[in-house]
Amino acid sequence: MTASSTARVFLRPGADRRVGGGHPWAYSNEIRMDEPARALAPGTLATLHRTDGKPLGVGTFNPHTLIAFRVFDRDAHATIGRDWLAARLQAALDLRTRLYAEPFYRLVHAEGDGLPGLVLDRYGDVMVAQVNTAGMEALWPHVLAALDAVCAPRAVVLRNDSRARAAEGLPTAVRMAKGQVDERVPVREGGLVFPADLLTGQKTGWYYDQRDNRAFVAALARGGRVLDAYCYGGGFAVAAARAGAESVLGIDSSDPALALAGEAAEANGVAARCTFTRGDAFAELERLAAAGERFSLVAADPPAFVRSRKELKSGVKGYRKLARLAASLVEPGGFLFLASCSHNVDADLFAAETAAGMARAGRGGRIVRAAGAGADHPVNPWLPETAYLKTLLLQVD
Ligand code: SAH
Repeated sequence: MTASSTARVFLRPGADRRVGGGHPWAYSNEIRMDEPARALAPGTLATLHRTDGKPLGVGTFNPHTLIAFRVFDRDAHATIGRDWLAARLQAALDLRTRLYAEPFYRLVHAEGDGLPGLVLDRYGDVMVAQVNTAGMEALWPHVLAALDAVCAPRAVVLRNDSRARAAEGLPTAVRMAKGQVDERVPVREGGLVFPADLLTGQKTGWYYDQRDNRAFVAALARGGRVLDAYCYGGGFAVAAARAGAESVLGIDSSDPALALAGEAAEANGVAARCTFTRGDAFAELERLAAAGERFSLVAADPPAFVRSRKELKSGVKGYRKLARLAASLVEPGGFLFLASCSHNVDADLFAAETAAGMARAGRGGRIVRAAGAGADHPVNPWLPETAYLKTLLLQVD
């Protein structure tokens, strides 16, 4: 597969500043969308050129998407196939091996690891892959072969059910690409074990992005009463209980999530101090406040309230409301952990909405720690907006 001998895509005059400066994307309005370019199949490997013909790199092209060209390699002569992919996978693996003692982490974070459109989460000898672009979809057989060469996983789950796929014209599909997996696969994190459901659980089965935040928050839980709204598989809740919380209440609207959380509490010997209940978080927080309940630590890690730029104005109010309700449940001197995984809400906006919500609750306080996803979610320096997770840990007066 030699891209340089096949398709060539050209930028419009003057549209080469960003890609020339290191950015990995060219937008459709920057591309010379002539007849040959429009005729290329979504995901075609191609070289990208300046108007004067100078090559800028090799990557994948989709004439139907806003992000039309994704640069894989600045060397336009690079052959994007099994060996090239194996080298990038090996580099991603080397980084994780330096960062983590155990093989449970996000192994590939798309552009952050120089692999546009690919997410790979590792659960020991099982991998879960998410292919989010037509370009990576076309390369998938080579990815699988490269993965075998680098990690030799026992099983590979393809979780091709992300929202991003529709925009790329790709179908939704969840299937085994290699081997089989049990209904529960253990995740080891911070000395704890969490059962994950890789085929039907949320995302790829586990939210690795919150690992460091779970550890930090859990360390504040000793001896207190903890509330984990949006608890999913009990990541924050069970870690807090194991760190010595007197009691932990977890809330989630999903029965399968609550089942996982209950199993996690059992598996870690803290079931007696954990209660998991089904409900809508806003309604439950209101009910608890009305009942005069107070907690020494409240964690709220909701799903994205803003899923597109169009939803920004309405969705962002959700963060203000959540901050208001959650802050009102924190006892004076206690802690509040809030998270936003909405791409379109930046750290400043999230902090502003949080402050506004706390003011509405009549509560003051201080930000003790502002953070985001863990180190296994590296950010491409030219795509700072892909640092989707924002977190705030506050002490509430
Ligand atoms: N904190 C978790 C991840 C939370 S993901 C962890 O560390 O692993 C967000 C969770 O919110 C999901 O489990 C989802 O089922 C739940 N959820 C979505 N809408 C909800 C609502 N209205 N009320 C309560 N939970 C909700």
